[in-house]
Amino acid sequence: MRAVVFERFGEPAEVREVPDPEPAAHGVVVRVEATGLCRSDWHGWQGHDPGITLPHVPGHELAGVVEAAGDRVTGWRPGDRVTVPFVCACGSCGACAAGDHQVCERQTQPGFTHWGSFAEYVALDHADVNLVAVPEDLSFSTAASLGCRFATAFRAVVQQGRVAAGEWVAVHGCGGVGLSAVMIAAASGARVVAVDVSARALEMARAFGAAACVDATAVPDTAEAVRDLTGGGAHLSLDALGSPVTCAASVNGLRRRGRHVQVGLLPSPAGTTPVPMDRLIALELALLGSHGMAAHTYPPMMELVRTGVLRPDLLTTAAIPLDAVPAALSAMDTVPGAGVVVVLP
Ligand SMILES: [Zn+2]
Ligand SMILES: [Zn+2]
Repeated sequence: MRAVVFERFGEPAEVREVPDPEPAAHGVVVRVEATGLCRSDWHGWQGHDPGITLPHVPGHELAGVVEAAGDRVTGWRPGDRVTVPFVCACGSCGACAAGDHQVCERQTQPGFTHWGSFAEYVALDHADVNLVAVPEDLSFSTAASLGCRFATAFRAVVQQGRVAAGEWVAVHGCGGVGLSAVMIAAASGARVVAVDVSARALEMARAFGAAACVDATAVPDTAEAVRDLTGGGAHLSLDALGSPVTCAASVNGLRRRGRHVQVGLLPSPAGTTPVPMDRLIALELALLGSHGMAAHTYPPMMELVRTGVLRPDLLTTAAIPLDAVPAALSAMDTVPGAGVVVVLP
């Protein structure tokens, strides 16, 4: 099969022939129809993920058709339209037994722990635990975004953030996951403040339902701007970018008893991220993490997508072929990859 391969971290990837994957007894091989480009792919390519061994095929936000299923797979067969959360759970550890598949103790992640979906085919483990059916009327390119950025945003806002109608929600960083969060929070009846350095990103945030925007290049202190706009601070705030600056701004922009959800990755080369813990104590803030979303919790989100309440399709800004992935990956350092989906012929 053809796949995007890199031999060394940070050096250009190339598209070349590699052996086809085989399904594990509990797994499937999916023919990739669409796969999103995500900032996590860039982090992986840069060498920020210690789980990646070389050579490597990245890609983890995918949708496609089951090509082959292992002997022990009972729920899926060739021809089924599927997507998958990027955290694939084992289905049998303590976390999985509690329903928390997104933090499985023996998780696998396509494009990180093994070869991913910037390829014609991808192997996925424990298919009965992890695959999610894609309705006939949902396109593969839309379904691909549900594997990572959109589901991650949904879990952050709805499941971890427990958003309520009428609350103020601040979203720091309006890339793919941030814009998804804006859309989901607005659809939940919250009033959203979007924060970003890019005028275009803020324009999109407004189109997706943000009630107010903060241009981080135009104010000395984004947290103060959020507190001013929200009459004392957000009830719920997300760092959807993942940087020490946006993390601190998110925490500092909260009102009393507010909840911060860390969504953007904070890779270890940047060091341990300082958090204003004094404010956490004084205001009784809550700090939460969000790490993907368990496959068994997808149905309410899928229904909102299927009925058009949530429109992840609007977040797709460009479709590129597999051959364009190496250049797109290289450009992600300076050009946000938000909304780029790779469509396979
Ligand atoms: Zn991703
Ligand atoms: Zn598990």
